Amino acid sequence: MIKIDTALIMIVLLVLGISIVSYLVMYRKENKKCIQAELQQKSTMYILLGAPGAGKGTLSERCIELLSFKHLSTGNLFRHHIDTNTAIGQKVKELIKAGSLVSDDIVVDMVREELAAVVANSAQQSLFLDGFPRTVEQAKILLAMIKEPVFSNLDVKAVHLWLPSIDIVVDRLTSRLVCSNKDCQATYSIKDLNDVEKAAMICKKCGGKLIKRSDDEVDAIRKRLEIYQQAEKEIIEQFALANIPIIRLDASGKAEDIYQNFVQQIGMTK
Ligand SMILES: [Zn+2]
Repeated sequence: MIKIDTALIMIVLLVLGISIVSYLVMYRKENKKCIQAELQQKSTMYILLGAPGAGKGTLSERCIELLSFKHLSTGNLFRHHIDTNTAIGQKVKELIKAGSLVSDDIVVDMVREELAAVVANSAQQSLFLDGFPRTVEQAKILLAMIKEPVFSNLDVKAVHLWLPSIDIVVDRLTSRLVCSNKDCQATYSIKDLNDVEKAAMICKKCGGKLIKRSDDEVDAIRKRLEIYQQAEKEIIEQFALANIPIIRLDASGKAEDIYQNFVQQIGMTK
């Protein structure tokens, strides 16, 4: 009796041992597969196109917060290079001092450096390129850059926040109130304020005075938008020629709808 019991226990232990070992081996294989799949996944750069006021900022904020997107803004890059006094920053400072424009080459150098860092990171990453290209010449330079071998693992798509009418943005921009406190610069829409707040015109964050745009500014905004739209048309033509997929988003709707439309079109959830 004792002998049979011992044999039985031995068999049970043996089967158990084999199961554990084979489970561990399989688990490791699966794990390895997952890591490899992740390494093979490409990073995706979405080039943001849209007039000032079309909602690029709002869309990128949501994607950064909810989808862990990275935001590559040429405006922020400039500030970073100037603040940290890099070689590019020094060059830009000299140009500004001399009253000259910063050349496209400098902007591209900055973008290249940032993008290369993202691509070098093995983890898959989605990012927005914001503020570039602004002209058809810049679009051509950018399209040439992404063909460089270092970016062979980068998917490039354009996101076009298109407007059925320029008036929508003019309305958005002219109903915007800005805090006059230089350190605050909070923005409000006049449509969101009640009558008391409209009469007071005081910033809720810092108590500074809120200012509205003048009619001259509105005219200037309209002119700037018309120039922008012409450039945008030419940029999109270049992207189409280069077979860059273009995600079209109707920018006349609510910010939430624009975001949902974008998420749906890129096949992400949230
Ligand atoms: Zn303020």
